[in-house]
Amino acid sequence: MQRLERFVVLMYDRSSAATGVDEARLDLFARNQRSYNSIPPTLAALREHAMRAAYQAGIIWGQVTNSNPDMSSPAEWGWTQKGEAWQIHWTTLPPIAASCQELTKCSCKTVCKGRCKCSQTELSCTSLCSCLCEK
Ligand SMILES: [Zn+2]
Ligand SMILES: [Zn+2]
Repeated sequence: MQRLERFVVLMYDRSSAATGVDEARLDLFARNQRSYNSIPPTLAALREHAMRAAYQAGIIWGQVTNSNPDMSSPAEWGWTQKGEAWQIHWTTLPPIAASCQELTKCSCKTVCKGRCKCSQTELSCTSLCSCLCEK
């Protein structure tokens, strides 16, 4: 997992010194003002992804010439079953916006007004905001 983490960190920021994805997320989000969508996945999400990749490559393709392959359930490898279909189990964590409301930041340029995200969620501005409000 350590190598995978470092690899993923570099894909998102090739000059990053971070060794872990969670550390890089904090760096890129708080310091570089990147949005949620352009920071690395959490370690929890990366682990689920790595399990799906290992399942597909190692267990499915690894036994492609075996007429009676020994398959373990996808449920143990980052998938969940819903009715007949298998769905990706993205992460073991709750959605970031729900669990970290304090990470809401606005992009007001001067004084907050109108469609300010902070005032919409009834939170006060923090140093993550780009506005000139008192912090
Ligand atoms: Zn604002
Ligand atoms: Zn704000």
